[in-house]
Amino acid sequence: MRSEAERRKRVNRIKKIILFTIVLAILVPVILCIILFYRVSRLESKIRQLEAAQEMRLAERGSDDGRLSPGNGKSDYLMQDIAEPDEQKEPDEQTPPAETDAEAGTGDSVTDEPEGETEAGTGADEPDGKTEAGTGADEPDGDEAASGDPDGDMPVQEASAEQRYEGYRKVYLTFDDGPSIYTDNILDILDSYGILGTFFVVGKTDEHSQEMYRRIVEEGHTLGMHSYSHKYHEIYASVDAFTQDLEKLSDYLYDMTGTTCRYYRFPGGSSNTVSKVDIQELIDVLAEREIIYFDWNVVSGDAMNVDFSVDELVNNVIYNLEEYHTAVVLMHDSGDKPLTVTALPIIIERIMAMDHTVILPISEETVRIQHVVPDHER
Ligand code: ZN
Repeated sequence: MRSEAERRKRVNRIKKIILFTIVLAILVPVILCIILFYRVSRLESKIRQLEAAQEMRLAERGSDDGRLSPGNGKSDYLMQDIAEPDEQKEPDEQTPPAETDAEAGTGDSVTDEPEGETEAGTGADEPDGKTEAGTGADEPDGDEAASGDPDGDMPVQEASAEQRYEGYRKVYLTFDDGPSIYTDNILDILDSYGILGTFFVVGKTDEHSQEMYRRIVEEGHTLGMHSYSHKYHEIYASVDAFTQDLEKLSDYLYDMTGTTCRYYRFPGGSSNTVSKVDIQELIDVLAEREIIYFDWNVVSGDAMNVDFSVDELVNNVIYNLEEYHTAVVLMHDSGDKPLTVTALPIIIERIMAMDHTVILPISEETVRIQHVVPDHER
C-alpha cells in the first residue's frame, strides 16, 4: 500500500513537472516574442527618426560637402527614395506623383550656406515697410508693412521686399505638384496671414485647376513651373523632351493667367538621379529662356516615406530654417497631403514669431537656392 502511495506521488510529481515544462515551453517564447516585438518597434521608430535627422543634416550641409559635389547631382538616399519612373501617375490624379519622395530628400550643394550668407549692407538701412509683398509678423521698423499695397498701384512682386528686408531671415514657402483639392485651403491660409507663397505647378486641365492657376497669380503669389507631365521618364529622357514639356506648360500657364512664368523647380530637384540628360544641359534650356530654377534647403517632410505627425512637420520646418538666412521650404500641394494644410497655419505662426524673419514669395532677387550650381555661374 505504501509503495503504491509513493508511486502515485511520484507520478503526480512527474506529471506536475511535465505540465510545468509544457507551460514554460509555451510561455517563454511568447514572452520573448513580446519583448522582441517591443524592442523592434522601438528600434524602427528610432531608425525613422535618425533617417529624418540625417536628411535634415544633409540639407544643412550645403556645398562644402565634398562627397556631394555640385554637378554630379547624385545622392544615395535620393536614389533609394525615388520611385521607378514608369510608376509615375498621371499628373491630374489626386494622388501625388512618386517623385514627391525624391523631393523629400534634400539636395547636394545648396548655395545658401548656413550662417555663411551675409546680406550686403546688413543693418545699414532699415526696411521702411512700404508696399509689402507678404510679410511675417516681424515687421520692419516703420509703417503699415503688412497692410498690402497702400498706394494700391504697385504690384506686390515689384515691391522689392528683398531689398527692404535686407538683414532679415527670409523664408519662402513653396508648394509643389498643385493644383490640388487643397490649393484653395492653402491660399485661404496664406491670405489670412497676409503673406505670399510660391506654387510650382504641373499641367492640369480641369476647371478647378484652371481657376487655381488664376487665383495664385491674382492674389500675388509666385507661380512657378514644375513640368507639365511630371513624368520623370518623359521629361528627363532627352533635352528635346524636356524643352517640349517646358514650353507646353509655359504656354498653357500663359493662356490661363496671361503671365509668363519665370521660375522652375525640377521634379526631384536639380540634384535628381533620374535624368538621363546632364542636368547642366537642362539648366541651359532654362537659362536661354531666362527662367530661374529653385530647389530647397528646408523640407517639411510631407512627402517623405516617414509618416510625420503635424507637430513633426512643424518642427522639421522650424528647427531647420533657423540655420539659414534664406530658407526655401519644400511642401506639397497635393490631394493626399492633408497634414500639410493642417500644419501650415502653425508653421506660419511659428515663423512669424521669430525675430527679424519675414515670409516672402520667390522673386528674381531671391538668393538662388540650387542643389546643382549652373556651370556658367561657377
Ligand atoms: Zn513634384
